[in-house]
Amino acid sequence: MPSLPTVEFDVIIVGAGIAGTAMAHALGTDGRKVLLLERDWREPDRIVGELLQPGGIKALESLGLEKCLEGIDAIHCKGYNVIQDKNSVLLPYSYENAKNGCGFHHGKFIMSLRTAAKAAPNVTCVEGTVKTLLTDKDDESHVIGVSYSTKTDKENDKLAYAPLTIVCDGCHSKFRKEVNKKQVTVSSTFVGMILEDCKLPNPGHGHVVLVDPSPILLYQIGTHDTRALIDIPGSKIPSLANGDLSKYMMEKVLPQLPESVHPSFIAAVKKGNLKSMPNQHLPPATNTRKGLLLLGDANNMRHPLTGGGMTVAFWDVVHVRDLLREVDDLENYDLVQKQMKSLHWRRKQLSSTVNILANALYALFAAGGDSFEKVLQDGCMEYFKLGGICVSTPIGLLSGMLHDPKALITHFFAVAFYGMYIQMTRGPLYLLPYLLFRAIGALVVAAIIVFPLMMFELQN
Ligand SMILES: Cc1cc2nc3c(=O)[nH]c(=O)nc-3n(C[C@H](O)[C@H](O)[C@H](O)COP(=O)(O)OP(=O)(O)OC[C@H]3O[C@@H](n4cnc5c(N)ncnc54)[C@H](O)[C@@H]3O)c2cc1C
Repeated sequence: MPSLPTVEFDVIIVGAGIAGTAMAHALGTDGRKVLLLERDWREPDRIVGELLQPGGIKALESLGLEKCLEGIDAIHCKGYNVIQDKNSVLLPYSYENAKNGCGFHHGKFIMSLRTAAKAAPNVTCVEGTVKTLLTDKDDESHVIGVSYSTKTDKENDKLAYAPLTIVCDGCHSKFRKEVNKKQVTVSSTFVGMILEDCKLPNPGHGHVVLVDPSPILLYQIGTHDTRALIDIPGSKIPSLANGDLSKYMMEKVLPQLPESVHPSFIAAVKKGNLKSMPNQHLPPATNTRKGLLLLGDANNMRHPLTGGGMTVAFWDVVHVRDLLREVDDLENYDLVQKQMKSLHWRRKQLSSTVNILANALYALFAAGGDSFEKVLQDGCMEYFKLGGICVSTPIGLLSGMLHDPKALITHFFAVAFYGMYIQMTRGPLYLLPYLLFRAIGALVVAAIIVFPLMMFELQN
């Protein structure tokens, strides 16, 4: 048997994406000896993680990483413009003088975070694909390190040991099931493309266009580039290879887009560089495995409609950093596990808010025809038009500035009741029984949407 090189660290981090880079930077800066393992250090080209909410920027500031937004051609985002047919409403980031959000190319931001992680003290960065978690021979539940292979030596696995291994290997996590056995569900698929020199109806704002069958997102991610994300319900999309996807874009999507967007959209479809990603939902699980912590999309996902994933991940890193500051010796496993249990509940003020909001809003925004959800969607548009706290609180929740699930539920049902009122006042008196039926149906559907999401969040 060949002799295997082994190394020892305080912490091993798997994956140098959003969560892993920030975590390595935070722990290395705090004096821990960190090994950061990433399977591919080249700039990624993905359609994910391109709009950072003001709440996420606040977390970056707390981590001393706000400079990572500089020099990457990031574009300020002042809030949202929601468009429904000829109807539109502007939702500025108005909660407690929130700063702007930021749009950028995901790859550029990741490279900026990776540069910061590499420059942090005590962080060793290695290109390697983690293959297994190593466990104690006397206690299989106790993770003591990882085995990994490198591109230059695929035959001989390397071993690394540490009292704590933090897995941040993203949405297709290989190691998720070691901690989180909850089911991953896919509600829809985002098809993404870059629109060059697109004329958005309200520059400087993210756009949500409510169309049939489900919403489209448009936001600027560079001086000349605007990201378009087209939601297609379910996990199957028309084939790109045989031209069905391009046909779908031209015949179904294009006519429903604002006219100013048409030229750049047509050019992007003709160029054909369309990418897709599943929109997944995964409730979080408590980290109870000795020596192991699951972070980021590996442990918790929500629909990306509200662009909340990076904000949740950065705040998780802030919480883990703060909780581990109370642990001198990471081999004090009881204390580490106690802190990880605290993490599960500490993160919920924000993560539950973002998770419930994203999935509930998707259910409303993907509504069409005569459905009860459409009553709620119409109610939501009219609610936003009331302005004041009917905008500032919901946008505070969405932007990750207001961490308050109770406020979310209050406003969600306020929208439902307002939707009922709008429905009841929409027709002549003789239609009242029918309108009443639709209004009550909408309230029942609101409860059916939100209560299961709340239940997921209340579990361990
Ligand atoms: C379509 C879409 C759009 C989105 N848009 C937004 C948005 O606008 N704003 C927002 O805040 N969030 C958005 N999100 C969510 C956001 O992208 C994620 O929440 C965030 O990227 C999660 O970060 P992470 O560190 O968990 O995973 P990632 O950033 O994906 O990082 C995982 C890393 O692990 C590495 N890795 C994987 N396996 C291994 C292994 N075995 N060994 C070594 N390395 C490994 C990968 O190469 C990768 O670098 C979007 C999600 C989707 C699906």
